[in-house]
Amino acid sequence: MASPQALYEGKAKIIYTTDNAQVLRAYYKDDATAFNAQKRGNIAGKGEVNCTMSSYLFQKLEAAGIATHWHAQPSPREMLVRAVKIVPLEVVVRNIAAGSLCQQTGIPLGTVLEKPLVEFYYKDDALGDPLLTPGRIQLLAAATPEQVEELTQLSLSINQHLGQFFRECGITLVDFKLEYGVDAEGKLLLADEISPDTCRLWDDSESDPERRVMDKDRFRKDLGQVEEAYQRVLERVLAHC
Ligand code: UDP
Repeated sequence: MASPQALYEGKAKIIYTTDNAQVLRAYYKDDATAFNAQKRGNIAGKGEVNCTMSSYLFQKLEAAGIATHWHAQPSPREMLVRAVKIVPLEVVVRNIAAGSLCQQTGIPLGTVLEKPLVEFYYKDDALGDPLLTPGRIQLLAAATPEQVEELTQLSLSINQHLGQFFRECGITLVDFKLEYGVDAEGKLLLADEISPDTCRLWDDSESDPERRVMDKDRFRKDLGQVEEAYQRVLERVLAHC
């Protein structure tokens, strides 16, 4: 049996090989970064929350017919995933204006968008993950126009499923980021994670704009009670099982 090799260490996860070349093991860390890693910290228990919540939501999406990289969750911080080549695009879906959309357009925080907005960012830390245009996506050969259309439709469908699910948990899905990969057979799979690190989640039972925040904005904006918020999201998600 070959010993596992660390293939890649990112800001929140370490990816290891397994005995099966088609399967990798993702280890979820408690390390937290924000503002393109200019702010660094630790959120105790985050690895377990993000791994468990992502595992649950990937299985939920699979049941709804959306192909994901999820394979198994052998321990609270470890996820077995299908090996994929990651598409170098971060797909952001927005239902309500927040974060960079407000900063870059002046649209007030909390504005409900008439229809979901899908945006593509270039997955490149050194460049600060810039917002792309369709022309720039072609220029960079990051995806074909057909893949962009497929990613858009898939992301909108995921938004519908997740939005409905979180509504049932008493949580509003404000926006979120998705990553995709292509497996050895050329099949497009939803990859990475779906967690309070990658989604903005507002508690429907709170009207106060700071108290309602249940996601990484608590860390980004030093709102306190970060660990508690992550645990509360997981409890609500699992209570819904
Ligand atoms: N997001 C993410 N990783 C990134 C950038 C954004 O998971 O590298 C998520 C973020 O948590 C939010 C959504 O994508 O749910 C939109 O983020 P935005 O563009 O507003 O950027 P931010 O405010 O994080 O700078």
